[in-house]
Amino acid sequence: MPTADRATAAYLGLAIGDALGATVEFMLPREIAAKYGVHDTLRGGGWLHLKPGQVTDDTTMSLALGNSIIEQDKVDALAAAHAFDAWMRAKPVDIGNTVRRNLLHFRKTGNPEAPYSDNDAGNGAAMRVLPVALATFGQTAEAVRVACRAQAHITHHCVASDAACETLAFMVQDALRGKDKNHLLHKHAHPLAAQFPEFRFRAIKQSTNPSGYVAHTVQAVFQSFFDTDDFRDCLIDVVNRGGDADTTGAIAGMLAGALYGLEAIPGIWLKTLNAETRHACESQARHLIRLSGCVPQ
Ligand code: MN
Ligand code: MN
Repeated sequence: MPTADRATAAYLGLAIGDALGATVEFMLPREIAAKYGVHDTLRGGGWLHLKPGQVTDDTTMSLALGNSIIEQDKVDALAAAHAFDAWMRAKPVDIGNTVRRNLLHFRKTGNPEAPYSDNDAGNGAAMRVLPVALATFGQTAEAVRVACRAQAHITHHCVASDAACETLAFMVQDALRGKDKNHLLHKHAHPLAAQFPEFRFRAIKQSTNPSGYVAHTVQAVFQSFFDTDDFRDCLIDVVNRGGDADTTGAIAGMLAGALYGLEAIPGIWLKTLNAETRHACESQARHLIRLSGCVPQ
């Protein structure tokens, strides 16, 4: 499968997972079951009153970041901070507290690096790491890490967030190379949990109602991603856990898209995804993977 197709599937997976999960964001699994049985449709609604196929900050911040990378030909923290600030001024449908606070800090100081805080361990930087993973595909591990941190620290300057961002970026990149799920598990997910016990996702109870704390988000994503064998099953499994479901959906969709590829994405989901969003994801994925210089055009 061409790498560019996997990159496109990762971006579409991010948006579809976001749109699917947003309907049930902040709901408990039993509330979801009572209302929908199994929630498996891009039906919109939710606390944000979305249209079917409409995405939230997880996707729109990724697109803002991706645009700035394409404009600059590189991951540039200051340019990305300006892109996020412009995104915030345009009144997005939702915005995380940590994102808002640290973008206001950027507006005041002009410094695109937020002050370090162990409390800023939300999932807001991890949810938008995909454009960096694509743009740095094929670069050295250290270069990937530096780029991950440059984008993440604009709003989340925290070691747990960094660990998640870097692990997710490396997982996407290895999936783009055609590595299998077992490789992603043993090379990336288990080592993350070994280094940071809060990320353990095995031998703990099934994660339900995952919070916006990045370790809880990643636990839910990893359980769904490694315990299913298909794009659709993975996304349905993760969003029906409720909690921060648009973000678990977005991150799981990015990984599952990269692993399973374009053909695995259900046509009805693709068709229902907001057309402008779909086009932006497809176009950015191809641009960003070309930027990396590692893929024949
Ligand atoms: Mn969101
Ligand atoms: Mn969310």
